[in-house]
Amino acid sequence: MPQTVTDLLDRVSVEDGRPIHDPATGELVGHTAEHTVEDLDAAVAAVRAAQPAWAGLGYAGRREYLMRAADLVEENAEALARLLSREQGKPLNGPNARFEVGACVAWMRATASLELTPEVVVDEPDNHSELHYRPAGVVGAIGPWNWPMMITIWQVAPALTVGDTVVVKPSEYTPLSVQALVCVLNDALPADVCRVVPGGRDIGARMAEHPGIDKLMFTGSTATGKAIARSSADNLTRLTLELGGNDAGIVLPGTDVAAHAEDLFWGAFLNTGQTCAALKRLYVHESQYEEVVDALAGLAASMPMGNGLDEANVLGPLQNKQQFDIVARLVQDARSSGARIVTGGEPAAELGDLFYPVTIVADVLDGTAIVDEEQFGPALPVIRYSDVDEAIEAANGLDAALGASVWSDDPEAARATALRLEAGSVWINKHGGIHPMVPFGGIKGSGYGLEFGVEGLKSVCVPVVLTS
Ligand code: NAD
Repeated sequence: MPQTVTDLLDRVSVEDGRPIHDPATGELVGHTAEHTVEDLDAAVAAVRAAQPAWAGLGYAGRREYLMRAADLVEENAEALARLLSREQGKPLNGPNARFEVGACVAWMRATASLELTPEVVVDEPDNHSELHYRPAGVVGAIGPWNWPMMITIWQVAPALTVGDTVVVKPSEYTPLSVQALVCVLNDALPADVCRVVPGGRDIGARMAEHPGIDKLMFTGSTATGKAIARSSADNLTRLTLELGGNDAGIVLPGTDVAAHAEDLFWGAFLNTGQTCAALKRLYVHESQYEEVVDALAGLAASMPMGNGLDEANVLGPLQNKQQFDIVARLVQDARSSGARIVTGGEPAAELGDLFYPVTIVADVLDGTAIVDEEQFGPALPVIRYSDVDEAIEAANGLDAALGASVWSDDPEAARATALRLEAGSVWINKHGGIHPMVPFGGIKGSGYGLEFGVEGLKSVCVPVVLTS
């Protein structure tokens, strides 16, 4: 029988734990356990002990467990989505909580259906060489608070598929959702192949330097990613670093704005803008500048924002005060530097303490903080350009390089522009669209390593060459 939110909270909330509040209402959701570094050491030892037997099951044996785990997530999807909505703030509807839990199921199934086989790289009379991929061993998974369940699955599913065992460290802002998800997974999995260690930044920091962790999957800010790279250096721990983005989009001249407006809107405001690969600065040719600004402002007015449990809402609060303050500061700075606030621009205090409305910032220049820094919230700067080369140069001008997009009804012009953009993923006429079989990862300051599909499996393995 499917579990309820109360059932899930009964399993993960602890009486003497740290209180977690709903960012939409301020109400208490539950109390999270806070583990110590000694608890982390014990968890690493337990998953290490479980790893050889898990690897020994082979792909087919592990697949049975993982498909059953995906079925359990699907059976309990509504309760998981409701808990996620209450803790993270994202609405049930729109590309939000139900969508996120659905993605967990889809990624689990797609990933578990894959397997790595040895590649023959040379086959000559005196040299037969094969590239094998063996499980790395113990994988540490450190995640952020914006898509907490989905990103946990992105880290855990490939690792378990290839025969690694995993220790998960959720963000301190969304620990209950991740613990509930791991509980549901563990109803299907053998003991100790996946353990969760809720706790603060000290737990993440210890994972980064932990000699018992062979591979670390990190998704979070660029600053933390760099700290992890430094503290993991002594052990030469293998890393996948999925870091912050500041994705540019370029609308080429002559584009049918009405046809693309809604995709532009959701490219920027998916999860109320709290998405790593969201559209965070939009370059629009002067010939269509006002048309694009008006279309986005019009859509903003038609999208209900509020408590995530209200079925009508598709936009929610900022998840935490720190992020709310970043968005408010960047909009205020843009206003002070002469930008035009077309819609939004002041906290939506009538909805609650952490609500900020969709804000379209026009007549803004490169070099303004809201363009150059990652806002990670519902405020989009729209920059006017007159020459496509200049727009490309500006788009490539920042260190962040997770995603980028080109918008045009001329496929050749779109492709030619896309090929010049420096980002790990470049989309045409969409932004942020991902697929479990299509590799995803950043370049430059957005990190390194690929997730998803076959490349994602390789990233949680060690390559070993066999030559005869
Ligand atoms: P964050 O870096 O503050 O925290 C992420 C995780 O790292 C948390 O679990 C935190 O406890 C842990 N941590 C903190 N200090 C640590 C340390 N010294 N060593 C190890 N772990 C430590 O990031 P956040 O605020 O949770 O997430 C927002 C950021 O994440 C944004 O910049 C966003 O763009 C980025 N992000 C990137 C992707 C991607 O796929 N590239 C996806 C989602 C979010």
